[in-house]
Amino acid sequence: MLSTSPATAPFRPDAHPAIDLYLDANATTPVLPLAQQAAQQVMAANFGNPSSTHSSGLRARAVLDSAHQVAQEVLGAPQGRVFFTSGATESIQTAVLSALHALSGRRAAGGDKPSTSPDLLLYGATEHKAVPEALKHWNKVLGLNCEVVAIPVDRHGLHDLAFLRQHAPRAALVCTMAVNNETGVISDLAQIGKTLEGSEALWLVDSVQALGKQKLALAETRIDYASFSGHKLYAPKGIGLLYVRPGAPFTPLMVGGGQESAQRGGTENLPGIAAFAAVLQALKEQNPVFHSEQVLVQFRERLLAAVKEAFPEVVFNAPLEQTVPTTLNFSVPGLSSKEMLDLFDAAGIRVSSGSACNSNKVVRSFVLEAMGLESWRASAAVRMSFGPASTEADISEACQRIVQAGQAIRNACLLLGGASLDDQSQTPADGLIRLMYDSGCSWIAADHEHRCCVIIDPLPELAERIVRWVACRNLQVLAVLATDVSHTPCRAALKQLLLARIPAALQDTDALGWPRRSEAAAPEWRRHLHLPDGHDTHALQLGASVLLHLPQAETGSASYLLAQCSGHALAPQDVRFAFIGDNYPAQEQKQQLAKLVSPRTLLLGAHDYSQEFATTLEADTLPAAVREEVNLAAQQIDTFLAEHPKAWVIDVREAYEHGMGSGSLHFPTRNAPLSRLPQHLVEWLQNPQQELLFVCRSGARSALAAACLRRLGHRNSWHLVGGLALQ
Ligand code: PLP
Repeated sequence: MLSTSPATAPFRPDAHPAIDLYLDANATTPVLPLAQQAAQQVMAANFGNPSSTHSSGLRARAVLDSAHQVAQEVLGAPQGRVFFTSGATESIQTAVLSALHALSGRRAAGGDKPSTSPDLLLYGATEHKAVPEALKHWNKVLGLNCEVVAIPVDRHGLHDLAFLRQHAPRAALVCTMAVNNETGVISDLAQIGKTLEGSEALWLVDSVQALGKQKLALAETRIDYASFSGHKLYAPKGIGLLYVRPGAPFTPLMVGGGQESAQRGGTENLPGIAAFAAVLQALKEQNPVFHSEQVLVQFRERLLAAVKEAFPEVVFNAPLEQTVPTTLNFSVPGLSSKEMLDLFDAAGIRVSSGSACNSNKVVRSFVLEAMGLESWRASAAVRMSFGPASTEADISEACQRIVQAGQAIRNACLLLGGASLDDQSQTPADGLIRLMYDSGCSWIAADHEHRCCVIIDPLPELAERIVRWVACRNLQVLAVLATDVSHTPCRAALKQLLLARIPAALQDTDALGWPRRSEAAAPEWRRHLHLPDGHDTHALQLGASVLLHLPQAETGSASYLLAQCSGHALAPQDVRFAFIGDNYPAQEQKQQLAKLVSPRTLLLGAHDYSQEFATTLEADTLPAAVREEVNLAAQQIDTFLAEHPKAWVIDVREAYEHGMGSGSLHFPTRNAPLSRLPQHLVEWLQNPQQELLFVCRSGARSALAAACLRRLGHRNSWHLVGGLALQ
């Protein structure tokens, strides 16, 4: 029997209750206690096989029957087929197979002349991948040779009805989701239904994201197939539903023992079914664990206000009046999805991006791209989604943390717009910083005390961020340099933007940005240096460091050396960094460099395709690191720290993430963000005995850091596999 418990204490998933705020309900939801209890009850007491004729079987059958009944009621589908599957993906496959098999049958029976037979399979351009992939798969398996065509959507994510009207007469199947999983956009099913009037096309509506958020009355529609998934509405994973309109073609995807009235073979997943049914029952009874739409709209308004306060320049990617109240999709100018996700994660808020996140590649949301939104929005999208059972307390806490996250990123001078910060608020910027876009690297060498910096190889995509960063910290810019002519257009443009910050005496430069020597040049910016190769040069004084220029006359390119040297004679070991652009040192250049820099001077490029960060002249001569030596499993950390009490645990997340997200760890950590890794490498490589354990959120960034250290000869480096998320 269905067991529904009365409203219990406010619902809160119990993984890391103190730190986790789960706002990713469109990906999956925690399992409601009433669903857990229903599953438990079935596993403990009603474990029988619904096909058995003894009492245990009969009790199990009763659970199954009442689950069907409540499903039909909630879907508003008293007639037709409603049966349980393993999830929406299976439901979608079954619907697509049913529709396409019918077409295949018609063609085989000669009912359709090839010239008049439908030859299009239409799907909304923003459908979940399960839909177009299923269409392509079954089209191929059944040898139908139909054309699989996306129905365009407008800037609001709504289907192009004129396109649909034009193509529907040739369509065998039309697939239009009810609510989009990334944006929450509600499709205009009524208009789509009208547009399909008179057409023989079958109609699949993937309704996963509508369940529990919209009233469903399937019997009153022309919809032929509707798919649902339990784990998007507080039931466990691995349970779903398919509705098939009475009379619509049907072919089972799986056959076997005749289960589910021979619609889906295989012994039923009764714990999953009971849990899903308990959720549906609660929905039907308007159990107070589920909030009314009005309350959900209030929740959204509060989150929206917090997001706007935290990120004043935010843009929302779908019109609120056209979306379910439980989904917000937004982009913040200048911050990628990956950075936003990391920031939120550090604040203990789990959200997702519209696209797969990749630290070395900009990936865009295909949904936002299909809506025609600018590419920066598609690569910066954040999806914040909650469910109808989210609690008021969680929303309040989330709002506070969102505002804190905004403050942290503002203090890191990473928010575009806004005034410069005072010294107390900002995270000090000293030393060398690497900014990345795709696999390109721009470098800023800054001296906090002397309030000055130089910029090397700025990328156009990072120009705004660099301007903001420099302005927020109120730094003088001594030079905007390029290592190669390919970087000069952006260099020149950035120089113009920063001109007011460049001392007049340093504004006259060569094409790559190196200040020309002129007697008028203020002596405080210059230092006469005697080089180890016997030459003399004029270096640029950058606070406590000096920057040297190594022009390559034959190629028109240049390298720059950043050294720590107080006198007038430069020693190779004074040179900490060599910016070599894209000139990975060929033999000739190596020989030139070897006269000036030490074997451990870090050679830094304008690109870093394989996330290596840096190389050295000696790196090629060192034995290769064995991968396993670097990895430490999550459960080994306590033993490791007991065995290596002097080891430093180094959090390689950015300072703003570290500041928010390290409090809950049970071991002390130091912060060395990946963007500053080269700066820290100098110190660590000089101290190869110091044991270093790198950590980050997922283990992705710490793996890069440890691999880099090992490659450059620091053998006492490890990283925590799976990251802090597993602690
Ligand atoms: N359709 C939509 C709109 C979804 O959001 C999802 C899940 O992400 C699916 C289909 C696939 O659901 P399942 O995980 O149950 O196979």
